Amino acid sequence: MPRRLYSCTPSRLNAWLDCRRRYRFTYLDRPQPSKGPAWAHNSVGASVHNALAAWWREPYERRTPLTAAVLLTRGWISEGFRDEAQSAHWLDRSRDLVSGYAATLDPSDDPVGVERTVATRTSVIAVSGRIDRLDRRGDELVVVDYKTGRRPLTQDDARSSLALAIYAVAASRMMRTPARAVELHHLPTGEIVQWRHTDESLDRHLRRAEEIGSEAAEADERYRAVMGEPSRTRRPRSGGASASRTPGNAGGATAAGGTVGRAPEAEGLSGGGQGAGGTVGGAPGVGGIVSGAQGAVGGAPGSRGAVGAPAAERAERPLVSPPRVPAELDELFAPSPGPICGWCDFRRHCPEGLTAAPEHRPWDGLAE
Ligand code: SF4
Repeated sequence: MPRRLYSCTPSRLNAWLDCRRRYRFTYLDRPQPSKGPAWAHNSVGASVHNALAAWWREPYERRTPLTAAVLLTRGWISEGFRDEAQSAHWLDRSRDLVSGYAATLDPSDDPVGVERTVATRTSVIAVSGRIDRLDRRGDELVVVDYKTGRRPLTQDDARSSLALAIYAVAASRMMRTPARAVELHHLPTGEIVQWRHTDESLDRHLRRAEEIGSEAAEADERYRAVMGEPSRTRRPRSGGASASRTPGNAGGATAAGGTVGRAPEAEGLSGGGQGAGGTVGGAPGVGGIVSGAQGAVGGAPGSRGAVGAPAAERAERPLVSPPRVPAELDELFAPSPGPICGWCDFRRHCPEGLTAAPEHRPWDGLAE
């Protein structure tokens, strides 16, 4: 019998590469183990992305830098900051960031898509994700990804991003229009880094996604064979950084499926973006993903969700530990301890991660 397609997002594929234990916690264990607290850098990233998405939905005449500032203020996500003063400081900085960026945009432009979900499939995977912005320039589409992290970007970031390449392929197939250019817009510096793929390089990324997907699909099947199918009951919302984009480049390709927050600067443009599922608290410097829920910005459709549930609600939730798994699964989903563990939302459940890196405070991913 042919194997069913492995349904994934770039975030899920990158989670498999980054740490298989985290992958298991994020995508397989149900109810999902509790996450740590929300990350302030993710709040900044989500707020900025939401404001920019809402800005493009405004009528032309209201697409001004001031409107960007107002949208940012209205949708500000204040979770994860040390205190109100720190949140207010970052609100000011972020307001300047979005209004400064909006001043560089042509309000009369009409992107082909904003927070646009794209999907494609091969004989092995069905992959989907959400693009920050999809432009049409001449006869081609350009995939645009916003970054808010502190780390300057390089062309290699754009070239090597699996998520951006997949989005280009998916957008091109869906719209029957060539899409080879991918761009990272680094808001703190105003720098735009572009990479122009060839058909061959896009194909290489897709084959790579298939390889990762095949490996993960096999492990998923083994997990289900041993642990049973996950229950269909709604999982309790564990507190935490779920929503979120990782600090750093807060950008990340979104992906409808989940996210792993990444550690600041550890980045990896993995497509952090979207994803309702997310997880390793986005490390600062990287774009994480914000849960797919409706965002805070004036309820703009499709906006990224706020970061996790309100603090009071999270505090009331019972701590959910991961299920005990046999040694076989522990080995299959082995941990990858390293510096990123300091930013992992599931660190509390992972003895190896606890010793691999010091714990970060929720606001440590902010660039001061
Ligand atoms: S703490 Fe580190 S090793 Fe443990 S699950 Fe998280 S990323 Fe993996």
